[in-house]
Amino acid sequence: MEVFKQIEARGHEQVSFCHDRKSGLKAIIAIHNTNLGPAMGGTRLFPYASEEEALKDVLRLSSAMTYKAACANIPAGGGKGVIMAAPENKTEELLEAYGDFVETFKGRFITGEDFNISVEDIRQMSRKTNYLIGLLERYGGPGRATAIGVSCGIKAAVNFYWGRKNLHGLKVAVQGVGKVGKNLCQILSEQGVELFVSDPIPERVEEAHRLYQAKVVDIEEIYALKVDIFSPCALGGIINSSTIPMLKASIVAGSANNQLENEQIHRRMLAEQKIIYCPDYVINAGGLINVYDEMMGIEENTSLERVKKIAQTLMEVLEIAQKDQITPLEASKRLAEKRLS
Ligand code: NAD
Repeated sequence: MEVFKQIEARGHEQVSFCHDRKSGLKAIIAIHNTNLGPAMGGTRLFPYASEEEALKDVLRLSSAMTYKAACANIPAGGGKGVIMAAPENKTEELLEAYGDFVETFKGRFITGEDFNISVEDIRQMSRKTNYLIGLLERYGGPGRATAIGVSCGIKAAVNFYWGRKNLHGLKVAVQGVGKVGKNLCQILSEQGVELFVSDPIPERVEEAHRLYQAKVVDIEEIYALKVDIFSPCALGGIINSSTIPMLKASIVAGSANNQLENEQIHRRMLAEQKIIYCPDYVINAGGLINVYDEMMGIEENTSLERVKKIAQTLMEVLEIAQKDQITPLEASKRLAEKRLS
């Protein structure tokens, strides 16, 4: 599809491209919607195979941020940045040039860490701009807050569908034990959950086994496990036409952004297979709440309570879905659009 048609299709307010000859920076910042406040969203660095792929990613991710902020009742809009580069080409010069790019938005876009962009990298950008979030890593940082939110979402879904007040004895498969997945394993193991984990980094799965008695499974094996809940906490697009037929879990609830490869097709496929999909941007909003609260100087307990409210939001979404006979994803969009308007 042509560039401007793609941008118009999702209703973005602004999409800007940056080419900086000196540092070699090639980046895109997409502002989807600022009805509720300045656009907030992390910056991702990735060796995209093509410019088209980078544009597609930034458009998808920035629109999801709009829905995430609206569902979480955060007065912020949706935005995202992508840098087209391999991690080994991430230089101080490149990060500073990106800081200059962020500065040109004069606060309409506020960014933070994401895939291949660490808190250290954000500090490097801060030489050029103040429109940054998540520098302090307060209250355990966004990864911990995201895991708390996902665990609350899982509990809400289990309560809604099975009328159970606790997770004791349930089986959960966690795909990816990085910042979110590891914290999630800790929280779930404390609640008596039987865990299964996969991750290409051996030390991470070994740690999950050692600390939380998680059973380690192969990367491809995780989809077909006989578990109650499948929790994607690694990559986006992993719920697709090849993986859905393998799933035996009744609930999909994880932190990964843009889990469904194609929202229209795959939300329906999941519904046909009677698998409940907890919309990613509803249950993974803990990180956004954490960095927003850090920016606003909100104290820890209040922030934690806001993260825990993800359970109520998900309940509301599931109720709408049941009442109107629509998928939870459609229900969450309705809820977000109501708040946006
Ligand atoms: P992370 O990079 O710390 O961890 C991701 C883990 O996934 C790594 O250990 C990696 O080795 C593993 N992984 C990669 N490919 C895999 C595969 N094929 N199978 C299994 N594991 C694989 O990232 P994170 O911060 O834990 O975030 C996880 C997901 O949640 C990402 O999609 C991220 O965008 C999303 N998310 C994170 C936050 C946050 O605050 N950290 C907030 C919202 C959403």
